[in-house]
Amino acid sequence: KQTIKEILQDYKKVLHHDITVYGWVRTFRANRFIALNDGSTINNLQIVVDFENFDEEIISKISTASSLKIVGEVVESQGAGQAVEIVAKKIIILGDNFTEERDKTILQPKKHSLETLRDQAHLRFRTNLFGAVFRVRHAVSFAVHSFFNKNQFFYINTPVITGADAEGAGEMFGVTNFDLNNIPRDEQGDIDFAQDFFGKKTNLTVSGQLEGETAAMGLGRIYTFGPTFRAENSNTTRHLAEFWMVEPEVAFNNLEDNIDLAEDFLKYVIQYVLDNCKDDLDFLDKRFAEEQKGKAEKDRAKEGLIEKLQNVIAKRFKRVSYTEAIEILMNSKENKKGKFQYPVENWGTDLQSEHERFLVEKHFECPVVLFDYPKEIKAFYMKLNDDNKTVAAMDVLFPGIGEIIGGSEREARLDVLKQKMAEMHVDEHELWWYLDTRKFGSVPHAGFGLGLERLVLFVTGMTNIRDVIPFPRTPKNAEF
Ligand code: ATP
Ligand code: MG
Ligand code: MG
Ligand code: MG
Repeated sequence: KQTIKEILQDYKKVLHHDITVYGWVRTFRANRFIALNDGSTINNLQIVVDFENFDEEIISKISTASSLKIVGEVVESQGAGQAVEIVAKKIIILGDNFTEERDKTILQPKKHSLETLRDQAHLRFRTNLFGAVFRVRHAVSFAVHSFFNKNQFFYINTPVITGADAEGAGEMFGVTNFDLNNIPRDEQGDIDFAQDFFGKKTNLTVSGQLEGETAAMGLGRIYTFGPTFRAENSNTTRHLAEFWMVEPEVAFNNLEDNIDLAEDFLKYVIQYVLDNCKDDLDFLDKRFAEEQKGKAEKDRAKEGLIEKLQNVIAKRFKRVSYTEAIEILMNSKENKKGKFQYPVENWGTDLQSEHERFLVEKHFECPVVLFDYPKEIKAFYMKLNDDNKTVAAMDVLFPGIGEIIGGSEREARLDVLKQKMAEMHVDEHELWWYLDTRKFGSVPHAGFGLGLERLVLFVTGMTNIRDVIPFPRTPKNAEF
């Protein structure tokens, strides 16, 4: 079987031959022209139907959404926009579009809001927009593997169920095999996790990093790429409860190597999408331009989607220390005039996304890598700098997105790590296996985490993270 993408690409091979094609109907015009699609490409294959040659019954069943098997001859097309079309000789209805539901189907060629489409698990995949988004998402995932494979990283899988809750306190989803109507309790009345499946309290992973570090201490260069879970109470356009995280970890790398790796990686993936998703990007670019038209002058993007991707690749990311960034923010007109929801008053405050976006979109006008954050606002495993105040952390900030990557050089010194764990109330005993990596030939190392969906948001020009994952999980939303 050939997909429509293959047929359109290699049409010269089948010109003037009879072929069999499969797909569903996008539109059926004038009882004569079917625009057939099969998901392989945004482009439709035109089928010409001479209705005198077919049963009325068959013709009456062809409507938007019905799925068909068609045998016909490939001929050069007279119409604009396509090189070839198929003159149908045989049409088999594989799946009717139930007549009574026809008028209700969201596949009618009119524009639907993204909110409406989000409620339609099945039909969403058949729209041009989501077809394009999910094909691009696929290309992004493929490019992730390709980049790391080219650079001699090993793909490893870290557990989805973890026994450690050192990170993400309050954000973790517990895992249990207890009957929730009959939870065993100890003498004090506390839940008796010793009787649970794993004999202890377990959670869904919030990051594969600690396990990833452990693996990198033996394999050198590794990356994980798996589902990650956070019970985010923030109902934002940038957070999902279930998202896919890419986490490389590299032995012997320091913070600067780590920033270089993040920049090379992001540019590689974006270049891959530009090179391999032309039709879908053209469609998304047009949609992006249309969205801009309705906006106020000041909110309008300065560049088109494709142009934006090309510009990000062309320039070196701006590298700025947290301390410099705070100076810039404190002295900004926005801060002085009280334009920020959270005014920046002193060194040490955590940056909010409005601050990150100011730096990227207004001040530097390019992706920014912030590094050397105050130790108090970053995780325990980040390397303590000589100033004793900052850690070797880095966040990559992208226009329209804010934080796309968070990473650091890790603290490789056992005594310093233990000291930091004590200060930050992280239980040493629970992480004995992690501490072991610092006992037997500790290795300097660094790594980062990228939320796949944030990168897909960026390359597709979509604005809500729910629209770039096939089945979004957000608060009060796990219907399908
Ligand atoms: P944020 O500040 O946006 O909440 P974070 O600092 O909590 O992100 P990290 O723990 O640094 O996130 O995770 C690494 C990366 O994973 C982030 O840079 C981001 O790209 C992505 N990420 C984090 N949380 C989510 C989420 N809830 N949904 C989607 N992607 C996420
Ligand atoms: Mg967060
Ligand atoms: Mg953050
Ligand atoms: Mg972060």
